[in-house]
Amino acid sequence: MAADARSAAKLSPETALAQGRWVKLICGASNQDLPAITDLCTVFGAAGVHCIDVAADPAVVQAARVGLDWLSAKGLESPWLMVSLSDGRDVHFRKAWFDPAQCPSDCPRPCQTVCPADAISMQGAVNAQRCYGCGRCLPACPRGLIEEHDHHVSLADVSRLLAELSPDAVEIHTAPGREEAFDGVVGALASADVPLRRLAVSCGLEGHGWTTRQLSRELWQRYRSLRRFGFRPLWQLDGRPMSGDVGAGTARSAVQLWRVMRSLAPPGPLQLAGGTNASTLGYLAPTDRPAGIAFGGVARRLMMPLLQEAQLRGVSLRAWPEGWDEAVQQARTLIQPWRNRPLSSFNC
Ligand code: SF4
Ligand code: SF4
Repeated sequence: MAADARSAAKLSPETALAQGRWVKLICGASNQDLPAITDLCTVFGAAGVHCIDVAADPAVVQAARVGLDWLSAKGLESPWLMVSLSDGRDVHFRKAWFDPAQCPSDCPRPCQTVCPADAISMQGAVNAQRCYGCGRCLPACPRGLIEEHDHHVSLADVSRLLAELSPDAVEIHTAPGREEAFDGVVGALASADVPLRRLAVSCGLEGHGWTTRQLSRELWQRYRSLRRFGFRPLWQLDGRPMSGDVGAGTARSAVQLWRVMRSLAPPGPLQLAGGTNASTLGYLAPTDRPAGIAFGGVARRLMMPLLQEAQLRGVSLRAWPEGWDEAVQQARTLIQPWRNRPLSSFNC
């Protein structure tokens, strides 16, 4: 075990995938909180993630690169930078909106209370940069004032944007019946001629009314599309989207989905996401070997108090030594159990 932990210390992303030790940080497909994104990249990069997944937005990618360059300058491993796209409407690519002028002055503001991103201020509207579309405020408003606005990149912009962002990897969120739209996005990515180490596909069952057989059929269709354009797949099974910070039990969905899909999915690494948190490992049997895991809401929630404290001090986390040390230590509690898993091997 000690030797495994040592060998995990310098795992390349591809080796981590092959050994079931891959860890990705999801900053949020519609999260545009730039100072927080830079800090999240530095903290979780230093804690050992292999990939950081951000919105396909030039300002966001620039903020992430500031963090990754900072890691490199410190002699630390720099993770892959992945950007997320969607082939249609998707909850990960939405933002909440309401007009605060419509709110009664005596409203106890349950929308503000439930927001995990601190995106709704006292008496204010939604801070669109911070909102990552979790949707928890939508049913919380007793007057039904909160709307969801779609925020995904249009097909016409995909190729130009990819050439501009030049990430290491891309993730496409897809849904049932969108094979043609998916093909269109993959074709646009191919035409940008940017070498990608992996093209991840994110898909789950929740909200789609699918069976696992249908999900399998859809993933095989996506696989044929990736093969046609020469991309290497990475399958992200989205158990219970954007819920990892809600409670330990949300982790069960992703593990159950992975168990069913491991024999039905196309070739390529199968990674857990959606509801993942520190409890996920506990739901896995010793023989269960997913290729890795992605942490989203739970990772951001973990850092929230320190990010807010740094903001109050008017500095970044990386410029506040005590806060930085504590942040990396906390991030490691989430990341290292995966990086230090016993070895296994996959056909990736
Ligand atoms: S609760 Fe979720 S959807 Fe609503 S404002 Fe906050 S982050 Fe956005
Ligand atoms: S819960 Fe509804 S009415 Fe109350 S502050 Fe929020 S958006 Fe306005």
